[in-house]
Amino acid sequence: MTDLTSLTIAEAREGLASKSFTARELTDAHLAAIEAARVLNAYVLETPDRAREMAKAADEKIAKGEGGPLAGIPLGIKDLFATRDIRTTACSKILGNFIPPYESTVTSQLWRDGAVLLGKLNNDEFAMGSSNETSCFGPVTNPWRREGSNTTLVPGGSSGGSASAVAASLCMGATATDTGGSIRQPAAFTATVGIKPTYGRCSRWGIVAFASSLDQAGPIARTTRDAAILMRSMAGHDPKDTTSVDIAVPDYEAAIGKSVKGMKIGIPKEYRLDGMPAEIEKLWSQGTEWLKAAGAEMVPVSLPHTKYALPAYYIVAPAEASSNLARYDGVRFGLREPGKNIVEMFENTRADGFGDEVRRRVLIGTYVLSAGYYDAYYLRAQKVRTLIKKDFEDCFAKGVNAILTPATPSAAFGIGEKGGADPVEMYLNDIFTVTVNMAGLPGIAVPSGKDTQGLPLGLQLIGRPFDEETLFSLGEVIEQAAGRFTAPKWW
Ligand code: GLN
Repeated sequence: MTDLTSLTIAEAREGLASKSFTARELTDAHLAAIEAARVLNAYVLETPDRAREMAKAADEKIAKGEGGPLAGIPLGIKDLFATRDIRTTACSKILGNFIPPYESTVTSQLWRDGAVLLGKLNNDEFAMGSSNETSCFGPVTNPWRREGSNTTLVPGGSSGGSASAVAASLCMGATATDTGGSIRQPAAFTATVGIKPTYGRCSRWGIVAFASSLDQAGPIARTTRDAAILMRSMAGHDPKDTTSVDIAVPDYEAAIGKSVKGMKIGIPKEYRLDGMPAEIEKLWSQGTEWLKAAGAEMVPVSLPHTKYALPAYYIVAPAEASSNLARYDGVRFGLREPGKNIVEMFENTRADGFGDEVRRRVLIGTYVLSAGYYDAYYLRAQKVRTLIKKDFEDCFAKGVNAILTPATPSAAFGIGEKGGADPVEMYLNDIFTVTVNMAGLPGIAVPSGKDTQGLPLGLQLIGRPFDEETLFSLGEVIEQAAGRFTAPKWW
């Protein structure tokens, strides 16, 4: 029998329907793969008993012809999603052994549709980071290595566990979240497909909040089709999230293979950075060639406020984070470090519970929101945000269907290689992705090629609000042209 972990979700769905194997067999194959790959540190909690129970239930439903669209499909869940009765930590010491008495809307929709929970996936602490090195459970290893080298590389972040687990076939797909690039950048670093939907498309209810006006959930999968399949279950209106939008969820999978002929693809000149590596340039022009060959038209566009996006993001995101993280005070969740009085207890708990990067964000956020600085920083950043959004609106008003850019400025880097002396070095990794969050738009990263050292690189497509379908159609064109990339197994 073929290795069940190498199947795509679409293939597994067929295999289950034709009774080539059972959901239980599919789950067991993944549980064995997870056990053999602990060196990657992708999972922070394995839930084999729950997985087998859910797989058994899926088999029973499939037998009765009642299996949902994801019946028996084993998934990994980023540890930012609350899972009922299952430890959820955001990979922060401050949440300790927090066991939520509720389930996030997104995950509950996945279980409603028959998916199986394999376990909780590693991420940067509170999703703050681009390398998964800030997790209290330690860094995640990228299954990809430079050719002829055994240097350990990061999988990107903050959804590093999700990307690594999907790339190493430790689950068929995973949930992830993206505040400034945390779905797309790790997808690009691991040759997986990641989509950040339009803000409001997926409910944020039950997801640990980082920066509420930017956070959005989405899937990471091995193919564009699989990402589309997962998106359909994850998306949808939820009255429990006031920013969730009440628009019907389309059949995203129907967009796969749809013609892109006549589509106008914007190529923004501001994304051509000084000193951009030649291989990123090459990848980008290769992408334009593939889309042209499929009948799309490339149009040069300008997004003049691009250069302000990163600095403005690093005001808005920490500001919202400092407010969201105020709730971790030793009273309600997880860790409590005693003190002489309640104030000292707060202080001790927060000092001990938050890691360095989180503390940095809380300090910056508190500063930019404080009296006297609010107008100069936070308000100014919000105005810049409006201008960034308008850049995209102007572009779309001229008939542009989507925008093509590189997903990241480089391939995956080594653990400990970036940001040690200057955190801004790490922040610069999000240069192509944060604009999309600032504007609330959907963006997809699709594996598109390799660098000179054999590491995967991705292209990003940015779409109109709630037009994820166009991104799936275009992503599929790139995937078909570029082929699929699988990390050689060394673990
Ligand atoms: N790397 C960015 C940050 O650290 C984005 C993280 C994310 O999207 N969650 O804020």
